[in-house]
Amino acid sequence: MADSTIDVGVLGATGAVGQELISQLSAHPWFNLAWIGASERSAGRCYDEAATWRLPVPCSDSVAKMRVDSAVPDRAPELVFSGLDSTVAGEIEVRFAKAGHLVVSNASNHRMADDVPLLIPEVNSDHLGLLESQASVRAWAGRIVTNPNCSTIMLAMALAPLRRFGLQAVNVTTLQAVSGAGYPGVASLNILGNVIPYIGGEEEKMETETKKVLGTLRDGRVDEHPVVVSAHTTRVPVINGHTEMLSVGFKAHPSEDDIIHSFREFVGRPQYEQLPSAPLQPLEYLTAVDRPQPLLDVDRGKGMTVTVGRLRQCRLLDYKLVVLGHNTVRGAAGAAILNAELMYKDGLVARSGR
Ligand code: NAP
Repeated sequence: MADSTIDVGVLGATGAVGQELISQLSAHPWFNLAWIGASERSAGRCYDEAATWRLPVPCSDSVAKMRVDSAVPDRAPELVFSGLDSTVAGEIEVRFAKAGHLVVSNASNHRMADDVPLLIPEVNSDHLGLLESQASVRAWAGRIVTNPNCSTIMLAMALAPLRRFGLQAVNVTTLQAVSGAGYPGVASLNILGNVIPYIGGEEEKMETETKKVLGTLRDGRVDEHPVVVSAHTTRVPVINGHTEMLSVGFKAHPSEDDIIHSFREFVGRPQYEQLPSAPLQPLEYLTAVDRPQPLLDVDRGKGMTVTVGRLRQCRLLDYKLVVLGHNTVRGAAGAAILNAELMYKDGLVARSGR
């Protein structure tokens, strides 16, 4: 049991994910926000001058007055969360790992590397075993751990309990919130009253990352899950919450009750270990015919619960269903913090911090 707090830092602290990380760390029982870093545009300024706070909960006075540092490792604590833009995250995160930091990243750059865990603690906590390969392959004193793309997290969580039925094929269409595109993101004239049927790189991420997340750790590497995933991704005028329409095919012939039971009983290490950010129910099956909906269901479990509903027969594959998750919480900041809690619990972060 963790019984003391350690200092942590946030890279990309001024951005959308950075703000959510700061908000979620504000009253964290184990992690004390001691350092924030961003680009040279922000470095040297007080946080409230460098960042325009966009969350409905206020930024604490202590964070508002913190000085933003450059994105260099010198003064940062050992454990650093990264909400860096992916155009710069690749290099900067490696620099931190080389300098001995444990980087818990939201960016896509290192996700598919063979020795980097692509972690959802309820689904594949054993993939942390890849950190041993990372230590032997790289000459880094530190490590990098990533969370999947926000849409992949919701998809992989809904599919994880269905692996027992011989998951074979998934066709998914996403309706993704504008907050997933950062700030200012998509121009209002482009998205209001509209649907944009293209999000760069997103379909490929869902189709590849899902197979790694659901894969099996064997002899120090992940054997990808054989499921074939086909994704259509769209941006819709919703503020928070990615909705996903799935058709799923199985080798076995589960009944609707079998599937709903699998969702309801699904828990993982975060629940057994009672990690601070773990929702009681990682997946909640809603029985109303018109749920889940972003307006009504996105904040369940403080945004960490993924809701599922509308399970029914499909004429092409076996079943159709709807999945919804909070893209900046379960899909980014909350996911990263849950990853770090698991690693702290496992002694992968020095207890004394630095
Ligand atoms: P964002 O709002 O654009 O924030 C980007 C952050 O990166 C800012 O803090 C920015 O600092 C910093 N940055 C940019 N260039 C830099 C440089 N050269 N050196 C150091 N720092 C630099 O982006 P976001 O939406 O928060 O996304 C952050 C990451 O999380 C991305 O990789 C994204 O793909 C991923 N992600 C986002 C979501 C989501 O729902 N939004 C979900 C999952 C994953 P300045 O303010 O100083 O420029």
